[in-house]
Amino acid sequence: MNTEITAPPPYNEKAAPYIYQSPPPIMNPTLEQPGFHRTIMGPLSEHPMQCVCSRCGALIVTRTEKEAGIVTWLLCGGLIIIGCWLCCCFIPFCIDGVKDTAHYCPNCANLVGVKHLI
Ligand SMILES: [Zn+2]
Repeated sequence: MNTEITAPPPYNEKAAPYIYQSPPPIMNPTLEQPGFHRTIMGPLSEHPMQCVCSRCGALIVTRTEKEAGIVTWLLCGGLIIIGCWLCCCFIPFCIDGVKDTAHYCPNCANLVGVKHLI
């Protein structure tokens, strides 16, 4: 019976202790994605309003245009259902009160936002 206790082999760590070196922080001022800009403005209205253009960054008063929206098309469909399916169904496209309002930048013609009726 062999009762001799042998010492384990010495732990001889030759490797240098691992020093974690964090990479230098990347200072990237152009972090914003192209085409993505913030627009600083309040809720849209049906009238020209003052805001900051998201493309050119200028303080502008928007140029508004009336565009056919969901209400316009719903009224058109309603007129077709009640029998006005000839030219009468296009009457809502001539009434600005039932259209959405699109706000454009007068400098760069950027679409700033659209005020939907519903
Ligand atoms: Zn602009």
